[in-house]
Amino acid sequence: MDENSRTQLIAPCGMNCGTCIAFFGFTMSGKKRKHPCTGCSSRERPCAFIKKKCNKLRNNKVQYCFECTDFPCETLETLDKRYTEKYGLSLVENLEYIQKNGIKEFLKYEQERWQCPICGGLICVHNKKCYTCN
Ligand SMILES: [Zn+2]
Repeated sequence: MDENSRTQLIAPCGMNCGTCIAFFGFTMSGKKRKHPCTGCSSRERPCAFIKKKCNKLRNNKVQYCFECTDFPCETLETLDKRYTEKYGLSLVENLEYIQKNGIKEFLKYEQERWQCPICGGLICVHNKKCYTCN
């Protein structure tokens, strides 16, 4: 996957859609989806979590949530708390990393962080499984 496609997979909330179970073609309960998700940013449909509650995201006023004067807003904090507790992943930390180091460095960091030791593919953040070699 090239850099542009990988950049496209970083959602406004800081989620790397390339590590999402939906992107690998499954639902949270483990059922196979009809179509794998192509990621929040590349889909025309509003983001599953924040976009529907946020006018700035809906109208493409901000690309990433850290660009917002309300960052981190209550909606993002609620989501962040859920992800930190359930999956050991802080979206706010991701966003702060991007803000500080830029998207290129973040992509590198993500690649190392979620890399499958066996095949080099990305591991799923939701169940820590590698769908590339499993
Ligand atoms: Zn693997």
